[in-house]
Amino acid sequence: MTEPTQTNTGLFLTFEGVDGAGKSTHVQWAKQYLCDRGVAVCLTREPGGTALGEQLRDLLLTEPMHLETETLLMFAARNEHLRTVIEPALAAGQWVVCDRFTDATFAYQGAGRALGRDRINQLAQWVHPGFEPNRTWLFDVPLEVARQRLSDAREPDRFEREQADFFKRTREGYLQCVNASPERFLTVDGTQSIERIREVLAADLDTLLRRASKGRG
Ligand code: ADP
Repeated sequence: MTEPTQTNTGLFLTFEGVDGAGKSTHVQWAKQYLCDRGVAVCLTREPGGTALGEQLRDLLLTEPMHLETETLLMFAARNEHLRTVIEPALAAGQWVVCDRFTDATFAYQGAGRALGRDRINQLAQWVHPGFEPNRTWLFDVPLEVARQRLSDAREPDRFEREQADFFKRTREGYLQCVNASPERFLTVDGTQSIERIREVLAADLDTLLRRASKGRG
């Protein structure tokens, strides 16, 4: 896991996974877990997290567009989010809990839509050089589980309507991200019960809290 470089800044924690993997079920819970232990938390999401970013999110989830346009809009929203929400919160010592970040662009646009990693790496270098989450939880589930949960839960958006092959490539794209930075990720078996997953997350959050308090000591 990436160690914080400055002890007085907050940690940047991200949740990742294909649609229906179950990550959003835990983001509010993670915020509360940290708040109960005295941490100031900024809870946010991508694409979105700012007024402009939420408008871009609506477009991204509904409007057909070229793959390059989609990728650029993701990073446009991300740039706004970083500059106006994430960086100020971290600088103020808050911990930022974010539902998706750049790993999702590698997985969805890079692998799912087959753009590849090179251009996304270039955009990441431009928008957030040297900056990455301190911890990323990847919720991993097989296609059938994700599909079943989504069909039970909500109307599908533009990404959720994609076919099985797209889902498989996206899942693979996430696993490539884990292989590229194994120390940053904790891969969570998303087929487990919500209670069991919370035990896993709580243990990991306790480790982060211990490290952060040692860093301050
Ligand atoms: P995501 O944010 O990854 O798209 P959600 O958190 O919105 O997924 O979960 C999708 C659906 O699956 C929701 O109805 C949620 O209640 C359900 N769900 C989430 N995690 C689990 C789990 N571990 N077991 C069973 N159902 C789950």
